[in-house]
Amino acid sequence: MSVAKEETVRKPMRVDDILNNDIWDVDYESHIKVDSTKCKGCKERPCLYLCPAQCYTLAGDEILFSYEGCLECGTCRLICPHDAITWNYPVSGRGIHFRFS
Ligand code: SF4
Repeated sequence: MSVAKEETVRKPMRVDDILNNDIWDVDYESHIKVDSTKCKGCKERPCLYLCPAQCYTLAGDEILFSYEGCLECGTCRLICPHDAITWNYPVSGRGIHFRFS
């Protein structure tokens, strides 16, 4: 005699949906400092393409940075070819609070 298993089908979540569950407690000061003088000579500009939160944007020929939506992944620190980024975690309790559900 076979027993029918009840199958639970979980719908895959999109990254945007997952991030919508998270909460940011934004600090008054940025935990990431960008040396814009070093950015001026950068041709590759990988921060524009590899930051998952799109914290880096282009305004004319200048790179603008906003830390408020940062996911604290550390990617920008690693990929900057001109070492223009000084990276720290936000002070304790600030920044993103991941909520896995
Ligand atoms: Fe973007 Fe990650 Fe850098 Fe934050 S740490 S600015 S999410 S690349």
